[in-house]
Amino acid sequence: MNKRQRERYRKQLLAKRESLLQLVKAARSSETEANDKEAPDLGDRALSTVIRDLSYQVTAKERDILRRVDGALDRIEESTYGTCVSCEKKVQLGRLDAVPWARHCIECQELQDRGEI
Ligand SMILES: [Zn+2]
Repeated sequence: MNKRQRERYRKQLLAKRESLLQLVKAARSSETEANDKEAPDLGDRALSTVIRDLSYQVTAKERDILRRVDGALDRIEESTYGTCVSCEKKVQLGRLDAVPWARHCIECQELQDRGEI
């Protein structure tokens, strides 16, 4: 991977990171709001629990991707970006275009999805 390509993925990752942070922040503030609101009866209290669980599920997923994005940015700094962490072959550029924070090449990802690595 050349410097120009690496820079392009870095920009994509930074943009993704920014939008994830926004989502996590938005979910967190609706979570706080649901907590702060004094629920007058049981129905409302149950509803605010549902809202809280829902936003927790969203942020858990977003936080997971955020961690991967951060990891990918670290690998760009260390110049190991674009190398499969499992077999150490190059990750296909088409795959990085689709998932810039991918750590595995397509073959290893398939093995991992099947629980074989
Ligand atoms: Zn691999």
